[in-house]
Formats: sequence, structure tokens, C-alpha cells
Amino acid sequence: MTNKSELIEYTSFRQFGFNEGVMEGLDTVGFEKPTPIQAQIIPHVLAGHDVIGCAQTGTGKTAAYLLPILHRIIENPVKGINTIIIAPTRELAVQIAQQLEGFSYFLNISSLPVYGGTDGMEWEQQRKALSQGVDIVVATPGKLISFLNMDIVPVQNLQHLILDEADRMLDMGFFDDIMRIISYLPETRSTLLFSATMPPRIRELSKRILKEPVEVNISLSKPAAGILQMAYLAYDKQKTRLLASLIKGRDLPSVLVFASTKSKVKSITRELAAEGLQVADIHSDLEQSDRERVLLSFRNRQLQMLIATDVLSRGIDIENISLVVNYDVPRDAEDYVHRVGRTARAEQTGIAITFINEHEQSEFARIEKLIGYEIRKQMPPESLGDGPEFNPSMNKPKFRGKPGRRPKPKK
Ligand code: ADP
Ligand code: MG
Repeated sequence: MTNKSELIEYTSFRQFGFNEGVMEGLDTVGFEKPTPIQAQIIPHVLAGHDVIGCAQTGTGKTAAYLLPILHRIIENPVKGINTIIIAPTRELAVQIAQQLEGFSYFLNISSLPVYGGTDGMEWEQQRKALSQGVDIVVATPGKLISFLNMDIVPVQNLQHLILDEADRMLDMGFFDDIMRIISYLPETRSTLLFSATMPPRIRELSKRILKEPVEVNISLSKPAAGILQMAYLAYDKQKTRLLASLIKGRDLPSVLVFASTKSKVKSITRELAAEGLQVADIHSDLEQSDRERVLLSFRNRQLQMLIATDVLSRGIDIENISLVVNYDVPRDAEDYVHRVGRTARAEQTGIAITFINEHEQSEFARIEKLIGYEIRKQMPPESLGDGPEFNPSMNKPKFRGKPGRRPKPKK
């Protein structure tokens, strides 16, 4: 689905058009700008869509739903319970309730935590509060069902159901409980499902309970199966010639190369251009308008090869690239997955190649650990001579701190 949220880059919470109450809540909590999952999810929740949000732990999924829901509650209050949030464990429910409390500190919004292990008096208080109706209920499945079974919970106007940590809920055997809860809820609600992973059982669940969901998936740990990942062991001085040899004479309409520094980007570009390849560079020394012009011609496939710095890698929004080359091993293992993901969308297949010098081997091993498998390492073609042996525990990274703190070389 293409829509506004994929074209606009959200760098400030203001851009979502939140009402003042929500903006004050953000101030209270001290969040300054949206995380990537928040940037992608919030517009859909505001629009009332069903959403599947998949991203690793710690990426800010809670606020991705709490903020737009608070906005919608303020804009459109209903009688009875507005929103039910379900989480697998008491601890998670507590965390959600705490974030909710922070955001809604100055808001006239009521919320109620409903999770197991409370005594009889608390139970009675919860029963009372629930039957009177609160805006937001944060609950674990079992406890919520016991109240729903009593038929005292005014859910007929429910606007939002949120399943947080859905993968863990299924791991813990809550599938039937979730279906049971849903049997009590009106169909007109929107449903939001959040998960750190997307196993088939989550797909199954979402098919059953979500309507035409927008899916936002920024999980990082597995490059798509259609991508051919390769690695070459090469000394720095071999890398540019290796790159040229991989591209020349092959049908690769769009090649994106990432290198670690501006000066490398510039010299690679110069050398490849001298070899007659159709290549341009992009880095922070270029004016914004020049960057845009280069990106546009690359997107339009008028330009075959683009050489970019690491810094720009996340910001470059181009997909369906035939070949991605990591001229240097990305320092951040997750960047590797991001980059590789730019090739091979849908039916197409793409290739991702990484060059590994003698100092980058343990960093590459870290990437392999993140993705969960090893990538075959090859030597450069004979004409370029052998590259370094692969031995990540011996070949530690070069010191990369500030120059003044460089350790003295051992004699
Ligand atoms: P997840 O549910 O994806 O595991 P959380 O929603 O629990 O992640 O958020 C992880 C941490 O990041 C929390 O401590 C939260 O307060 C913080 N956080 C979330 N969004 C932002 C933001 N936009 N700016 C700063 N910190 C944030
Ligand atoms: Mg979470």
C-alpha cells in the first residue's frame, strides 16, 4: 500500500498533527523525535487502520500505539471502554501502564491495569472501575477474560484493541484466550498487533482478527531468502579493482556501493569512472540539490552505479537494486541487514557482496551471528592475487577510536 506516510519523512512528533495534550505528554516524557517504527506506524493508527507492527525489542513500539490512541481518545471520546491493550505478562503490562501514565499525566484520560495476582479487594475495585468504564484497559489475557465473562465490561463502543508482544502471547499459549476475548468485542474496532517476530502463527492470527492491515516490518535479523549474499576476502588495495571486475561485462542495471569514508567514496568513483564505468558519488560534501539530482538519476536507472558513504546509507530510499556492495564491512551489524534488504524485493532476486579486509573479520563474524548463518568467503580472482585468510579471532579490528587515544604499538 502506498500512502502519505511512506513519502513523508517524520523527523518531529509535530508532523503527526497531535493535539496539544499529546504534545505535552511527549514533553513530560522527554521524547524528542519519533523512532523509525513510530514514524511508520503512527499515521496509520491516526487514520484508523488495522496495523501489524513488527520490530525488534527496544524500538519504541509502545509509544507507536499509545500516542495516536491518546490523540484519538481526546478527539473522539466514547462512552464505556475506548481501548484494550493486551500483553502476555504482568511485567509487560506494568511497563505499558507506566508509559501510559507518563504520556497522560496532564490528560483527562482514565486507565486501569488489569492483570493477575491481585487480592480480593483489588479485584473488587477493578470490577467496579471496569463496569463504570475507563478509557484504556491494560490487561493480561486471563484476567481480562474473567471480567469479560461476567458481562459487566462496557465494550460496545470499543475503538481499539492492541495485542502487544503477540509472538510471546502465542508462545505462552494464549491463542484461545485471545480469540475468546475478541468474541466479546465489536467488529467495528481497529486492531493493532505488535510483535518482535513474524512466525507463521502470527500471520495466521492476524488473518483471523485484522482487517486489511497495514504491515510495517522493520525486523532486522533475517535478510530475505531471495538475496544471494557473498563475501570476498580482499586487502584494501585490491578492493576497487575487485569491484570493477565484478561489474564489468555483467547485466547489473543498478549497483549501490557503500564505503566507510568520504575520501574513499571519492577515490573509488574516480577510479571506476576512469575504467569507463557509469558512476557517481554521494556524500555530505555535496549540496542537497546535487544529492537529489544524483539520487534521481540513479532511481530512474539513468545512472548505473552509485557510491555512497555509510552515513547516507540509511537515508537513501531506493529499493530493487540489482547489486549492493559493502566496500567496507558495515560497523553496525544491523546496517548490513538494512542494506542487503535494498536488493531483491518481491519476486526479484538481488545480490549483496561484502569485501572483508584483514581487520574487518571479527566485525563480519558479528554480522553472521546476527543473521544466524555464515556467508561463504571467496578469494579475489587470480589476476588480483590472494586476499587475507579468514580468521576473525586472530584478525582483530584496527583501533578506530579518536586519534589522540590510539594505543602505542607493541614492539
Ligand atoms: P519495544 O516495545 O519496541 O520493545 P519500548 O516501547 O518499550 O520498545 O521502548 C523502548 C525504550 O525506548 C523505552 O525506554 C522508551 O521509553 C524509549 N523510547 C521509545 N520511543 C522513544 C522516542 N521517540 N524517543 C526517546 N525514547 C524513546
Ligand atoms: Mg514492547
